[in-house]
Amino acid sequence: MIEGTFLGTSSAFPTAMRNHPSVYVTLNGKKLLLDCGEGTQRQIRKAGLSPSIDHIFITHWHGDHSLGVGGIIQSLNMMKSSKSLDIFGPDETGQSVKNILRTYKFYNTLDIEAVSVNAPHEKVILEDTLYRVSALNVKHSVKCLAYKIKEKDTRNILAEKLALKGIKAGKFLSGLKEGKDVSYNGIKLKYKEFTYIKKGKSLAYVTDLRYDKKIIPFIKGVDALIIESTFGSEFDRSYDYFHLNIKEAMSLAKSSGAKTVYFIHTSQRYESNDSLKKNAQELFSRMKCKFTYSFPDDLDKFEV
Ligand SMILES: [Zn+2]
Repeated sequence: MIEGTFLGTSSAFPTAMRNHPSVYVTLNGKKLLLDCGEGTQRQIRKAGLSPSIDHIFITHWHGDHSLGVGGIIQSLNMMKSSKSLDIFGPDETGQSVKNILRTYKFYNTLDIEAVSVNAPHEKVILEDTLYRVSALNVKHSVKCLAYKIKEKDTRNILAEKLALKGIKAGKFLSGLKEGKDVSYNGIKLKYKEFTYIKKGKSLAYVTDLRYDKKIIPFIKGVDALIIESTFGSEFDRSYDYFHLNIKEAMSLAKSSGAKTVYFIHTSQRYESNDSLKKNAQELFSRMKCKFTYSFPDDLDKFEV
């Protein structure tokens, strides 16, 4: 299961209600940040989450998406942590991280690895035992990436079926889980009969890009999609601004086939989400969309 918290849902300017963009994700015991705007640490505190981050995925190095990186490094150093911290981002991320380390006097104790990613096609950038993260270049005014987290499919035991045969859990189960037939007290157990495949869940994070259908194969089939809708559909210059308005975001969300969609990165011009929500509702019926969607507030939680 992928669990997350929206730490920040604003765009360029933080507002009284919305922090700079960041999404906190936990899976398989790892703590990930998708973007890390200013104030991310404080949002982590407010949400009651662990500050001990393992991986940071920066979409691009505009300040609203990355000003919090120095803060995370500062706090982990103050905690005298010697953990490893991977920072992924577009081309030149290695240089950007070096600059942060050079600018601030951290007395660094961390094992920091900066990974510069160029992904003209979908590229796996992190492989864990239970999940993988991939990236794709998207069109923004500077180099920018979209990210996708996908849990791997796992083979699980049909324990009740085994129980019917009077068989209790034991070491032999690992063989079945690996897709091998095993013998138990002389009984041959076929993995196909006593296991099933549990599909891994997937989450895509897509923000700061102009409308481009080329992203569709990347987000196709995800369970949940977090996508920017910086403007309402009344704003027809989103393309020139390298952003999406709600109509464009809704259209990409529909094409993705995602079951759940979260619209984030709201421009400060919308004091509340009321007009955007109304706008979205009209488009949703007109475009015959089928997913569930919301405009999350800061500190809202989600599960995929
Ligand atoms: Zn932004």
